[in-house]
Amino acid sequence: MKHHNEDGPPCGHMEGLLNQAADGSSRGLKLWYAINHAARCTGCGNYLRRLRETVGRLHSATKEMPPTDVLNRLEAAIPREEGIPR
Ligand SMILES: [Zn+2]
Repeated sequence: MKHHNEDGPPCGHMEGLLNQAADGSSRGLKLWYAINHAARCTGCGNYLRRLRETVGRLHSATKEMPPTDVLNRLEAAIPREEGIPR
């Protein structure tokens, strides 16, 4: 009998913690606990890896936005009317 746990679902009670670990909203002990569990649990490990790939893709998508210094230069180029507080 072969076990196909490689792509199994994560432990139900870990799902929230793994989500927080992947999107960076988790800190300290919670983050450590999630990483530590994912390292030993195949289902959670794969789940966390997939989440991180998704988050990484989202981050690289935002990198296609113009860099901040370009935005600043654009804003500086816009003439401002005198006397209007910003
Ligand atoms: Zn698990």
